[in-house]
Amino acid sequence: RLYNEVQELKGNIRVYCRIRPFLPGQNQKSMTIDYIGESGELLIVNPSKQGKDGHRMFKFNKVFDQAASQAEIFSDIQPLIRSVLDGYNVCIFAYGQTGSGKTYTMSGPISASVEDWGVNYRALNDLFEISENRRNSYFYEVGVQMVEIYNEQVRDLLVDDGPQKRLGVWSSTQPNGLAVPDASVHPVKSTSDVLQLMHIGQTNRAVGSTALNERSSRSHSILTVHVRGVDLKTGSTSRGCLHLIDLAGSERVERSEATGDRLKEAQHINKSLSALGDVIFALAQKNTHVPYRNSKLTQVLQSSLGGQAKTLMFVQINPDTESYSETISTLKFAERVS
Ligand code: ADP
Ligand code: MG
Repeated sequence: RLYNEVQELKGNIRVYCRIRPFLPGQNQKSMTIDYIGESGELLIVNPSKQGKDGHRMFKFNKVFDQAASQAEIFSDIQPLIRSVLDGYNVCIFAYGQTGSGKTYTMSGPISASVEDWGVNYRALNDLFEISENRRNSYFYEVGVQMVEIYNEQVRDLLVDDGPQKRLGVWSSTQPNGLAVPDASVHPVKSTSDVLQLMHIGQTNRAVGSTALNERSSRSHSILTVHVRGVDLKTGSTSRGCLHLIDLAGSERVERSEATGDRLKEAQHINKSLSALGDVIFALAQKNTHVPYRNSKLTQVLQSSLGGQAKTLMFVQINPDTESYSETISTLKFAERVS
């Protein structure tokens, strides 16, 4: 049954666009979104060009408008998450400029109430619920890792000294299937275990940011959920893996403004986001060569990108006219991979 649901998600790569609502104080009238179609069309209007020339159409598997709730977003991707229990590998990304709602989609707002929960809490909650329902036929073990990639260095976010230690990325042929075997794996049995871990992860991410402010927008964070299932009748086991990725902000940094550390950060982000784009593009084109080796991000995710694995990209955009050029550059990235 679940297998059929997954088959219904056409292809292995889906791209969804989510539009952030206006923030309090923003002028609701200066808007770049002109039209959203039922089949994933999105018409963007250039605020400084009148007429047809100023319009540009993009096409996604789906577009979620400003009113879309966290529950709505999740219900659409639920089959994908459930497929992890059947042994699939799944990657879910949030891509977009800083402030476009990546963290909101993946985690939800800080100290979120249950209804504001983002994809990661809902996903784990769902996995626990299903494994409970299946407990007469299957035994499931769920373990969680959380790492950040900052300046092409991988760090564990779930141990106290994590942000200080750089971790190696292994080839995907490890017997235990872990791409970052030295990052701690935490067994979890309930949503409250998960909430506690996320809190540690977020605190550790903030620790790193005292030296460089707002670090979270310039690093990728990857929450990985490993699921091992045992069929109680046959004794056969399966392994599935869910990566939930809050990417670094995709905004272009002005060459003239960026110097020193800021320039280095920008170059690393640029390099890894384009490496990700290249990998997804190669997979979508069914190319025989997929350039996984060009960034730490694509190396960590290698075994969960391509093959039988499923990929979902949330492309996050702002509705306001000030964000127009970043919005277009975000949408162009998405256009290439979809
Ligand atoms: P990013 O992680 O891309 O930098 P955030 O997720 O931090 O962006 O979102 C920026 C701000 O917009 C936050 O205050 C967040 O709570 C708010 N926000 C983003 N998306 C939504 C949404 N769908 N509904 C309500 N508020 C949102
Ligand atoms: Mg964020």
